[in-house]
Amino acid sequence: MHIYREPSVTNLDFDELASYLEEKIPFVEITTRRPPEANHELGTERLAEKFARTKVKSVESPEKNSNPLYGEIKYEEGLIENPSKDVSGVMYDGHLLSRIYHRLLPEEETDASHLHIIFTKRLFGTWEEKGGRYHARVTLYSYPTLISTSGIVEGPAKPKEFYREKRRLASLGETGGTIERLKEKFKGRFIDYDDERLTEVMKGYVMQALFYHLRSNPFCEKECCRLYNAHWQEEVIRAQLEPPEFCEKHSNILEEL
Ligand SMILES: [Zn+2]
Repeated sequence: MHIYREPSVTNLDFDELASYLEEKIPFVEITTRRPPEANHELGTERLAEKFARTKVKSVESPEKNSNPLYGEIKYEEGLIENPSKDVSGVMYDGHLLSRIYHRLLPEEETDASHLHIIFTKRLFGTWEEKGGRYHARVTLYSYPTLISTSGIVEGPAKPKEFYREKRRLASLGETGGTIERLKEKFKGRFIDYDDERLTEVMKGYVMQALFYHLRSNPFCEKECCRLYNAHWQEEVIRAQLEPPEFCEKHSNILEEL
């Protein structure tokens, strides 16, 4: 199992993640690596163009960004050269992003005996026919699997009261610093950027990736289990930060692995 680091996030301890996995699945060799972008043999500009093409043009349209603007390519170039750059406000198509990363994997490791988990701060979404829009995701279970450190903040919904309060403040015409004030008020009830609980939370998502790889199903229907497919921040907190770690069924499966 290969884990690719996201260097810009300070509260995500990849060594701790690796130790956790070594304890849970001692028979699997775990490596942590530099971001896949670091391995590219394409020119930076070519790679930047590929990333720019995966950008979501509008969350309400599945239209691809086939002809990225010069500025968009330059932005991606900057990101490849300086990974600590801010990426807020941009969403990428998860499936297209996964395809780019697939090409950046070492060719001799692209078979089923290798599991690649790529951490990225890029926010990605998947197009949902049903709602007719892109939805931000924490993870994309594919080959390779992607986990977004922005997706954990933007994907699962915050408490209902958060949005109610936000609407109320907006109706009063209050705009300046509203989000910051709301975040302060609801602190602890959602995962924020570079949250100090990030490492603990991500242990569960890496385990979901493992179950996806081994059993094609990353999820569990039990809310208490780390494999629960949480749609709300409070569900993330319950599943990842409160005991037990796994439901009985998944604890047993892990023991028998
Ligand atoms: Zn379970």
